[in-house]
Amino acid sequence: MADISRRARELGTENAFVVLAEVNALIRQGKDVISFCIGQPDFHTPENIQDAAVKAIREGKHGYTPSAGIVELREAVARDMTRTRGIEVRPEDVVVGAGAKPFIGYTILSVTDYGAGDEVIYPNPGFPIYESQIKANGAVGVPIYLREARDFSFDPQELADKITARTRLLILNSPQNPTGGIIAAADMQAIAEILRKHEQVWVFADEIYGRLVYDGQFVSLASLPGMQERTIISDGASKTWAMTGWRLGFAANHKLAPYFTNWVTNTESCASQISQWAGVEALNGPQDAAKKMRDIFFERRNLIVKLLNLVPGVTCRIPGGAFYVWPNVTEACRMIGARDSEELRARLLNEAGVAVLADIHFGPRVPNEGQHIRFSYAASTEAIEKGVARMADFIRRNTVHAKASAA
Ligand code: PLP
Repeated sequence: MADISRRARELGTENAFVVLAEVNALIRQGKDVISFCIGQPDFHTPENIQDAAVKAIREGKHGYTPSAGIVELREAVARDMTRTRGIEVRPEDVVVGAGAKPFIGYTILSVTDYGAGDEVIYPNPGFPIYESQIKANGAVGVPIYLREARDFSFDPQELADKITARTRLLILNSPQNPTGGIIAAADMQAIAEILRKHEQVWVFADEIYGRLVYDGQFVSLASLPGMQERTIISDGASKTWAMTGWRLGFAANHKLAPYFTNWVTNTESCASQISQWAGVEALNGPQDAAKKMRDIFFERRNLIVKLLNLVPGVTCRIPGGAFYVWPNVTEACRMIGARDSEELRARLLNEAGVAVLADIHFGPRVPNEGQHIRFSYAASTEAIEKGVARMADFIRRNTVHAKASAA
């Protein structure tokens, strides 16, 4: 029989989608489940953006566009990145894609060679697509560990220790999925300082949550002296304007833009023209709706952190951005006799009707950091109050006094 390649068989995935299928199956069976699984805003796309898309359809903007995107959008992105990062980004440096996600693969494909031993340093826990794309494209993944004691950023010294002559790419993600952590300005400076000693290292700066910062200031590595040239700034419409299904992302780097354009030609040809016109309005139009969504996320963050810290066996740091919290549940696992966070997650889903993701969905568990789960608070205030109350009640009801322990 015709065979399937090892690469395809071993390709990783986003486990959020796997858990989501489990959740939906339970809901179809009539189970009452409150879900904190999915990493997308629970709002509609702002109306002015919807109107721009309808206008594009009515005006007959139905065809392919240049692979790099329509000029109007590339100009809008360049203007926005110039303003928000304090550097000069030119329209010809910008490439538009069907979401920010494809640029992860395009970057790895553009700066590493298959099977050559090229190393890519990436955050762990982290967005699972980093690791799966590194593997699928024949590079060597080198995880760098995010530490709770550092509010879920890594120690720059660990970066210095992990860079070798084979390192080709460093992936940064701030604000971060899954922890909500942000890389502090001082750490960003330290990272730049280390990179100055290693000219061969590119940086993929995943800044998709860059407008969802609640404490401190958003800092792009590209803004620091000497860093823009080697940094791929990755951003998109999904999270800021609640446009996940529109599939619209942007990457900017002067040297790589022609290569990214060619990858787009080789894959999707171009992002949807309709979405691109909507993106022009998202970037150039009024920002009231985006600001309102951000303010609501900020309020929810404060609420969920406060409530989680009242749950027996749970401690939750205050994450600086995105819409995720990453509570430590080591003690809660011990209290209910769960082996680990994954068993806690499964029991929360099946016995309490609360859907979350476990740390293992974001890479191998970090040594000596205990057990964590991820809540996405892209959920209503009522869902947050009810869901966390269910979790607290579940842990109280199931606390065992036998000697069970979690790693
Ligand atoms: N990068 C991170 C860290 C994400 O969390 C996500 C989406 O969840 C993406 C990239 C991809 O976003 P997009 O919808 O633009 O492809």
